[in-house]
Amino acid sequence: MSTESTPTVNRPVAGIVAATSTLEGGGFLVYRPFPTPALNWLDPFLLLDEMAPVEYEPGEAIGAPPHPHRGFETVTYVISGEVEHRDSAGNHGIIGPGDVQWMTAGDGIVHSEMPSERVQTEGGVGHGLQLWVNLPSSLRRTAPKYQGITNDQLATAHGEGWTAEVVAGSMFGVTGPASSHTPIGYARVTIQPGTELRIPVADGHTAAIYAFTGTAAVGDSGTAVEPQQLAVFERSAGDVLISVSADASGPLDAIVLTGEPINEPIARYGPFVMNTAEEVEEAFADFNAGRMGSIPATGTV
Ligand code: MN
Repeated sequence: MSTESTPTVNRPVAGIVAATSTLEGGGFLVYRPFPTPALNWLDPFLLLDEMAPVEYEPGEAIGAPPHPHRGFETVTYVISGEVEHRDSAGNHGIIGPGDVQWMTAGDGIVHSEMPSERVQTEGGVGHGLQLWVNLPSSLRRTAPKYQGITNDQLATAHGEGWTAEVVAGSMFGVTGPASSHTPIGYARVTIQPGTELRIPVADGHTAAIYAFTGTAAVGDSGTAVEPQQLAVFERSAGDVLISVSADASGPLDAIVLTGEPINEPIARYGPFVMNTAEEVEEAFADFNAGRMGSIPATGTV
């Protein structure tokens, strides 16, 4: 047997999607590459929001007061600031810079995602990402679950000119701590000017990168990706290739998403994502009847 390695193949770039700007929750600005008119979803991912960096004065910070979800998972990654989570399953956690909260809404949950009391009192910069991960029909109504993952628990990898923090799945020879219901890869990568990074992805899986700071060129085509843009790769065999030019003004800070497509129809409305419109109506009825619970009153400290 020869030991010669398989020639590497880079995935073609399927397209570049510019994020739209929209207001969410209590009125904070988010950049949203999907769902948008250009890209409804990216199976198995349903939504990606970058909560825009904003400098809050004391008393000004806003978040998302109690609201329900059913049928999928929300993954929050804090870049700056602190987000305090409470939900109707009794979970409570504060996540800070580099921390991740992976919430399985499943059968139904009511949660709030607010700036921590400290940030509300003192102000400061808020900046983060939220990803919605779909569930297959067999798991849509699984029991709600909460995974609070601190930055020091993330799997890290680095090479010349790049570093990575892996939240879920196996990438760069390490495996992230989050447990997911279907095969998913989620990593934050920082790539310095003059560096090329190649990421193997399982054949047929979805692959995309979202740049939140800095610019890069992707694929053999060298297609440009700018901040607040999502590069989507073909679901073919091959690697994701990201290059940051030597004359770039700074590093690329981006997230890499990979996942096995679930390949089921979806019906979505607001906070609910199901397979059929009837199931979405049932979710609204169950929420309105109080069957997704409510957030327990907080005790005094
Ligand atoms: Mn939410």
